Amino acid sequence: MSIQRTFSIIKPDATARNITGKVNAKIEESGLRIVAQKRLLLTEEQASGFYAVHKDRPFYTDLVKFMMSGPVIVQVLEGENAIVAYRKVMGATNPAEADSGTIRAEFAQSIDANTVHGSDAPETASEEIKFFFAENEIVG
Ligand code: ADP
Ligand code: MG
Repeated sequence: MSIQRTFSIIKPDATARNITGKVNAKIEESGLRIVAQKRLLLTEEQASGFYAVHKDRPFYTDLVKFMMSGPVIVQVLEGENAIVAYRKVMGATNPAEADSGTIRAEFAQSIDANTVHGSDAPETASEEIKFFFAENEIVG
């Protein structure tokens, strides 16, 4: 067991429905701590750069557009095995397959408007955190 940090985005479908507090409640109820947080409208450069790993997938253009369609909340979460722990709290990418009680099972509208992003590995977590936060903006 180790204390880790992971990177989270509350996506535009959630800010549009005014449920960012409900998502944060799920995060905090799981034991993870929100140690940095800010609300942003992503630029095209940020959205396309952030999802560059998916640039050859058929859904890439729509994903970038969706992520720019309204405000997002970018966050750093901290806790025991935070990367895997948050993936569990999020639930599967497709909400139809997400376990009950997870953020996506309760709040996601579709496989694309699926309410949250979470890092998938230690290397991506550290890159994604640096993409949006300076070290002195993260207060554990
Ligand atoms: P996750 O967000 O669970 O890590 P991926 O990294 O595979 O999932 O995909 C990134 C995001 O791209 C997803 O959260 C979702 O918003 C979108 N996405 C993934 N697969 C599809 C798909 N088949 N159709 C539309 N959008 C998708
Ligand atoms: Mg992913």
